[in-house]
Amino acid sequence: MNKPADLKLDTVPVWINGRAVVPAGRLGEVYNPATGHVARRVPFCSEEVVEQAVKAAAAALPAWRDWPPLRRARILQEFLSLLKKHQQELAAIVTEEHGKTLPDATGSVQRGMEVVEFACGIPHLLKGEHSENVGTGVDTHTRRQPVGVCAGITPFNFPVMVPLWMFPVALACGNTFVLKPSEKDPSASIRMAELLKQAGLPDGVFNVIHGDKVAVDALLLHRDVSAVSFVGSTPIARYIYETCAKAGKRVQALGGAKNHAVVLPDADLEFAADALIGAAYGSAGERCMAVSAVVAVGSAGDPLVKLLEKKANAIKLGVDMGPLITGQHRDKVRSYVDKGVSEGAKLVVDGRDPSIKEGFYLGTSLFDHVTPAMEIYRNEIFGPVLVVLRAGSLEEAIAIVNRNPYANGVALFTESGGAARRFESEVQVGMVGVNVPIPVPVAFFSFGGWKNSLFGDLHVHGMEGVKFYTRTKAITTRWPHQDTPAPGLNMPTLG
Ligand code: NAD
Repeated sequence: MNKPADLKLDTVPVWINGRAVVPAGRLGEVYNPATGHVARRVPFCSEEVVEQAVKAAAAALPAWRDWPPLRRARILQEFLSLLKKHQQELAAIVTEEHGKTLPDATGSVQRGMEVVEFACGIPHLLKGEHSENVGTGVDTHTRRQPVGVCAGITPFNFPVMVPLWMFPVALACGNTFVLKPSEKDPSASIRMAELLKQAGLPDGVFNVIHGDKVAVDALLLHRDVSAVSFVGSTPIARYIYETCAKAGKRVQALGGAKNHAVVLPDADLEFAADALIGAAYGSAGERCMAVSAVVAVGSAGDPLVKLLEKKANAIKLGVDMGPLITGQHRDKVRSYVDKGVSEGAKLVVDGRDPSIKEGFYLGTSLFDHVTPAMEIYRNEIFGPVLVVLRAGSLEEAIAIVNRNPYANGVALFTESGGAARRFESEVQVGMVGVNVPIPVPVAFFSFGGWKNSLFGDLHVHGMEGVKFYTRTKAITTRWPHQDTPAPGLNMPTLG
């Protein structure tokens, strides 16, 4: 694969104040998961480097927040054009460092670009409200203003799409931004920073730092960071939420998932099985919206498992499905398959001995007759492992889903409108699909789960994203003239 010219460096730079620099200090390794070899290194930033990035963002804020929203949106339009032009290049970077197949990576870049398309229209959503004569000669209006310097901390599984859930919306709303992408696949963020600069973004408005807990903590505790968006695993999401809340910062922290698909006996089982195979094994199961647990209702169970077995066995490693992110993660996923066997689940497809021996590949695994008490059901495995539970009725299936502590996405397969309507109403999950296996909302809706899949009040992108990255101010005005009564000591009623 051709490496983009700016990424020939052995060490991925940080991006501060419109410039790429490689800071001194600790380094981590970035792997190519398909070969298992180190592709490049990444700096693990110190508090001092984080300080420089936040300082640059804080210095750029006053001018950027005063740009007319339309002018900011034009920069994003130009960025969108550049993303389109460089879509394949970005997808290739994702494939090289994450391991997902090129068509899958291309699709994820596309979904990210859709958020930029949404952000180009944000001036419309920044409009305030106005009421004339709330009291005699008194008017009230609201302003929607940026919150300030925002930080984004993102996971390894979507190195382009998840950062794009955050910074285009934040920038369009007039904020400046410091991104801390996953240290496992950091290069795409730097490429996006270069494209933003090419699009005309003023230096300092968007910055990228790398690293681990040291860099993250420095961001969370920095006085000049006003809001933090996080996407990653549940324990870290909870930590980010608690730390930010304690420091008085605005925070949205999206966590892990165990997404269910409920299949009713009246469903088109062939269609459902195809959908489930894509949703379970696409991106090697490393998607926060991957279906990892199927609840087969009544007579759907046996034929569905037969279809899933046939289709899971047909997946070609290295063509349909890539490797896992690291050797350590592959070993963890494989140990879950061992665990499922020892817990007494029926292993229908065994992926523990993959056809490709180099790199971090693992085959597809499918378990049947899994129970809610088993660890392979209770934990997020984040790999190509699908578990099937059996339920006697829709009611029982909904109860299983609702007892699970995660609540990101869920899907129902059925031809019954009545069953679907009941499911939509009663299921306690943030994103629901009916005959749609991965119900990721489009960019002008908002993305986010419930319970342990999201800590905070507002979801990402769409109107909730705009609300997260803005604060409203209510302004009451009176322009005194000769008839205006003098203010007194009593509670003003304006009437
Ligand atoms: P992770 O939680 O390990 O890392 C996420 C980010 O947090 C990274 O930038 C990482 O450097 C940082 N981090 C890691 N440990 C930290 C610590 N102790 N203190 C401070 N920061 C720390 O997650 P991951 O392995 O990169 O990504 C996979 C997880 O992300 C899965 O659980 C997946 O479900 C979840 N995810 C959720 C969504 C969602 O929308 N809910 C989307 C994508 C991924």
